[in-house]
Amino acid sequence: MFELIARYQIRCDAVRHGWIQAAHSAAALRLVHARAQQWSERGAAVAVLGAEEVAAQSGALGYYGGWIDRRGGRLQPLDYSRGLARAARQRGATLYEHSRVQTITPRPGGWRLATAAGSLDADKVVLCMNAYAAMQGGWSALTRAYVPVGSFQLASEPLDPDTRASLLKDNVAVSDTHPLLHYFRLDAEGRLIMGGPGLTLHSLRSPAQVEPLLAWVERVFPGLREVYRPQYYWGGDVARTLDHLPHLHDLRSGVYAFYGCNGRGVALATAAGGWLARLALGARASELPLPLTPLRPVPLHAAYPLYIQAARLFYTLTERFKRSASAPRTATPTVGLRRVPSQR
Ligand SMILES: Cc1cc2nc3c(=O)[nH]c(=O)nc-3n(C[C@H](O)[C@H](O)[C@H](O)COP(=O)(O)OP(=O)(O)OC[C@H]3O[C@@H](n4cnc5c(N)ncnc54)[C@H](O)[C@@H]3O)c2cc1C
Repeated sequence: MFELIARYQIRCDAVRHGWIQAAHSAAALRLVHARAQQWSERGAAVAVLGAEEVAAQSGALGYYGGWIDRRGGRLQPLDYSRGLARAARQRGATLYEHSRVQTITPRPGGWRLATAAGSLDADKVVLCMNAYAAMQGGWSALTRAYVPVGSFQLASEPLDPDTRASLLKDNVAVSDTHPLLHYFRLDAEGRLIMGGPGLTLHSLRSPAQVEPLLAWVERVFPGLREVYRPQYYWGGDVARTLDHLPHLHDLRSGVYAFYGCNGRGVALATAAGGWLARLALGARASELPLPLTPLRPVPLHAAYPLYIQAARLFYTLTERFKRSASAPRTATPTVGLRRVPSQR
């Protein structure tokens, strides 16, 4: 991904100073150490970190330790997407925005994709809708092969240089191992951007909606709550698969699908784009790093929203309990908090 950014000179605030995965429990620490070991055996620039090292490099307290992958980094994802689109256009691709494909039907030698405004004939079709598949007819099984889970992010006002310096040394990016994961990074203006589990916020109706994430900020960055002022928020869905792995399918002759980034798709989906392009151009499945598998709907798919609600409730209550067990809370103002307009 970083090579692509350099090759096409995409201006997206890309900084490649590493990514830390912080362990939220002793069991998770064993897991991340095994992960670091596996990457190390493959020659990657990784290292295991003790609890103090995670705290020193990220400013976040309470983690059991973690590992750092120095190949990772951070970027501004919207600028990255737009940069990719620009590069594709310059090389002859035609992009149709605001054109939801409603049906895909066979035609001699290929497929017809119909939208509300018109249709397009194609020899090959690549479905890469990740958590947003909303296809009708015979393709709707795709929407049951993963579970969409809401994640949302808060961006603070730019932090003063002293506070910035106490967090995220060298602009490293961090996410943790919690099943409803938290992640944080600084942006180019020095805002602390952090995300975590939450409803997909279409409008902020009450500060209570962002309360669990703010409570987490207060607990993990104890000194920060005095100066942390949330300024923007946004959210979306991530596609969770039961095996936590991405899936690649050859659905019907010449129709391929990729999804299941499990909240970590910026680099992964970029790589998958290359695999899908090779498939569409005739590569054999055995030449790809990810196997082609049969599409399997998640059992009891309709029950998952309830399960996720229950997990969120448990998470909210746990955060509340941990907060009341720690220092008295400073109210974090959410007045003036603005939603980043949806680009969809
Ligand atoms: C709040 C939040 C924070 C995240 N943070 C990170 C992070 O820090 N790091 C990371 O690696 N990942 C992160 N992710 C996950 C990452 O955004 C996704 O994994 C990634 O965007 C997947 O890329 P994609 O191209 O597969 O799908 P998407 O970027 O979701 O694109 C799918 C597209 O398909 C379109 N679509 C759907 N149906 C149709 C149709 N019928 N016709 C036409 N178009 C259709 C959608 O409109 C959408 O534009 C985050 C996600 C969220 C929601």
